[in-house]
Amino acid sequence: MVISAAAIFITAVISTILCYQVLKKQVFEDLSTYAYVLSQNKVEDLNIRNDALRVTVVDADGGVVYDSKADITGMENHKKRPEVKVAMKKGKGTSIRWSSTSSEHTFYYAQKLSDGNILRVSKQTSSIYQVITSAAIIILSISLTTFICCALVAHLLTRRMVEPIERMAENLVMLDESNVYEEIRPFVTTIKEQHVNILKHAKIRQDFTANVSHELKTPLTAISGYAELIENGMVDQEDTKRFAIQIGKNSNRLLRLINDIIELSELDDLHKEIPFESFNLYEAAQNCLSMTEIQAEKQEVECILTGEEVMVNANRDLVEELIYNLCSNAVRYNKRNGKVIVFTGNIEGQPVLRVEDTGIGIPKEHQGRIFERFYRVDKSRSKSTGGTGLGLAIVKHIVAQHDATIELESEEGNGTKITVRFRS
Ligand code: ADP
Repeated sequence: MVISAAAIFITAVISTILCYQVLKKQVFEDLSTYAYVLSQNKVEDLNIRNDALRVTVVDADGGVVYDSKADITGMENHKKRPEVKVAMKKGKGTSIRWSSTSSEHTFYYAQKLSDGNILRVSKQTSSIYQVITSAAIIILSISLTTFICCALVAHLLTRRMVEPIERMAENLVMLDESNVYEEIRPFVTTIKEQHVNILKHAKIRQDFTANVSHELKTPLTAISGYAELIENGMVDQEDTKRFAIQIGKNSNRLLRLINDIIELSELDDLHKEIPFESFNLYEAAQNCLSMTEIQAEKQEVECILTGEEVMVNANRDLVEELIYNLCSNAVRYNKRNGKVIVFTGNIEGQPVLRVEDTGIGIPKEHQGRIFERFYRVDKSRSKSTGGTGLGLAIVKHIVAQHDATIELESEEGNGTKITVRFRS
């Protein structure tokens, strides 16, 4: 708005000055033409009756010989008039004089005649101030209209620009980005996506904290309950032993939970550097199977390792943890006399690990959620076999850290097959 006001003012001033210059040039040209025509006549023949034009003839001494508008008797000598003075010397002279009484400019053009007299033609014209005054009203009204238009457009544009931002501040999630103007749409979409992500993560964290508190509380309540009973001396020798076993079991459960939570929080830390090395996946699977041996024997489950040796570039500890979690699940959720078949090998140039069992399987409706933290299909079975509900969440994290893929195939009652494909 300020720029438009300044532009209008400068344009008005410059165009007025230019107009006046053109006017001045035009008037002098006209006067010189009149002078030329008049100079063709004799002084005695001059009889000019024109209101706009004044013709004066001055002799070589400056005395007025003829004047079309005034009585020449008693007129003062004109020798000192600037236009006459110049014309006497150079043949032609011009001057402009300001009359404060008529508030007009008088343009004079003087020309030396062949007889030595000076012919002077003059005309009164509006001064630059009059030009400005008459133009001022038009300029002012144009300026005002332009200024009002500018203010209106600026207001509308600013409102259009700011409105979606204000709506974003009010409710970012509900904002429909197709309703905002094109230029701001990518910004709104990004901010909205980030905001939704932040909310989602906050909800996941909140749920996780609530779950963790609940999971920790159960064994702790049991431990403190048994301890209190023993402390009060209300239990006999035999029960004391039974309670001690329960305290031990619950303590182990607490330890497993805490270990898994620490593991998950470490895997959550994206800035932590994980060292990779090349190692044999078959050997790693062998180690893990030997760790599940006791449990497998207890549950009368047979574990078989098949496939071939294959090298993988990964973090050995994390991959062993992954294999152990999958094998442990395959044993724990198996049937009596069931089988666990672990396969390692190279499929289509990729190191592959597959853990297959002939166990209870996972119902279709649970398959999409078993990788969530603390999600279990059968809570009591998980707890009774020493599960924490975090095993597959840890597996999912390790897979992501290795840029690998995981695939689950399961049929309720028939068994489960989990395949992990590492990067070649
Ligand atoms: P948990 O410590 O309870 O085993 P996981 O995260 O390892 O927790 O597994 C989540 C749930 O997925 C388990 O509680 C179980 O219901 C189901 N599950 C995992 N592996 C198998 C499997 N091989 N066979 C059947 N169910 C499984």
